Formats: sequence, C-alpha cells, structure tokens
Amino acid sequence: MSTSVSDSDQSTSAASESSWQKRNCPADVETLGNAAWTLLHTAAAYYPDRPAPSQMESMRTFITTFADNYPCWYCKDDFKKAMEKEPVRVGSRKKLSEWLCRRHNEVNEKLGKPAFDCTQVFKKWVENPECNDS
Ligand SMILES: Cc1cc2nc3c(=O)[nH]c(=O)nc-3n(C[C@H](O)[C@H](O)[C@H](O)COP(=O)(O)OP(=O)(O)OC[C@H]3O[C@@H](n4cnc5c(N)ncnc54)[C@H](O)[C@@H]3O)c2cc1C
Repeated sequence: MSTSVSDSDQSTSAASESSWQKRNCPADVETLGNAAWTLLHTAAAYYPDRPAPSQMESMRTFITTFADNYPCWYCKDDFKKAMEKEPVRVGSRKKLSEWLCRRHNEVNEKLGKPAFDCTQVFKKWVENPECNDS
C-alpha cells in the first residue's frame, strides 16, 4: 500500500489548516471586552441581594484580581483608576450591578458609544422576557 501524500492531499490539508486558523483567531480587545463584560454583568446580576460577609469579600477579591489580570494594559489601567475613585460596591446585587454599569458607561463614553440606561441592567442581564431562558 502506498503511503505517499499526493500534491492534492497536501493542498487540501493546507487549505483546511488555513480555514481552521481563520476560525480560531485569538481574542482582540473587542471580543475580549464583550466576553468580559458578559461575565462581569452576569456575575453581578446573580449576586445575592443580601450577601454574607464572606460573599462580599469574595466578590471584592474577584473584581480586584480581575482588574489586576485583565489582559489589555490600557483597559486595566483605566479600570483600576476608576476603582480608586469609586471602590467596588459589594453590599447588594443592585449596588454591584449599578457600580459595574457606571464603570462600563465610562468605557462606552471613552469609545464614543452610547451610554446604557442603568435602570435596565437586570432586564438586559437576567430577566428579559423576550429571551427563551430568562
Ligand atoms: C474592564 C474593561 C475595560 C475596557 N477598556 C477598554 C478600553 O480602554 N479601550 C477599548 O477599546 N476597549 C475597552 N474595553 C472593551 C470595550 O468596553 C468593549 O467590550 C468592546 O469595544 C466591544 O464592544 P461591544 O460593542 O461588543 O459591546 P460591549 O461594550 O462589550 O457591551 C456588551 C453589551 O453590554 C451591554 N452594555 C453596554 N453598556 C452597558 C452598561 N453600562 N451596563 C450594562 N450593560 C451594558 C450592551 O447590551 C452591550 O451589547 C474594555 C472592557 C472591559 C471589560
């Protein structure tokens, strides 16, 4: 049985490798940001109304270490500066969600995007009746 690879097999394999690469690009600042905001707002939307002290400490640590490790240096620097001006509010689901909404709106403003109405955070992130699973 022949084990040689034909020219046509090689070019098919190169084309499929190239196609795989195009479908598996590393995250850029936009895709990373969109995914990161989804995680943050969703975590806030499911945070307790009345968190125990340990839950508050855990969330404060999560947000702080998130900021320390966010893999976009200028995003991280501005986010940390914003946190110095207004430390994260972990007292309740509403306080945390609104705090995050304000931080996100600061980035929206910097990027020339419209501000999000922070009274709608729960509708967007947890209870939109138009969506199947909320
Ligand atoms: C901490 C952090 C800092 C960032 N800093 C920068 C930066 O300095 N420069 C930069 O170019 N990019 C930055 N980004 C990325 C940027 O914010 C966007 O995520 C990215 O531009 C993609 O935008 P998008 O249109 O997909 O919507 P996104 O801004 O990612 O928003 C996703 C969805 O969240 C909802 N949403 C929008 N605003 C709010 C809000 N205020 N509260 C609740 N929900 C909201 C909307 O439904 C929107 O579709 C940062 C991201 C993070 C997480």
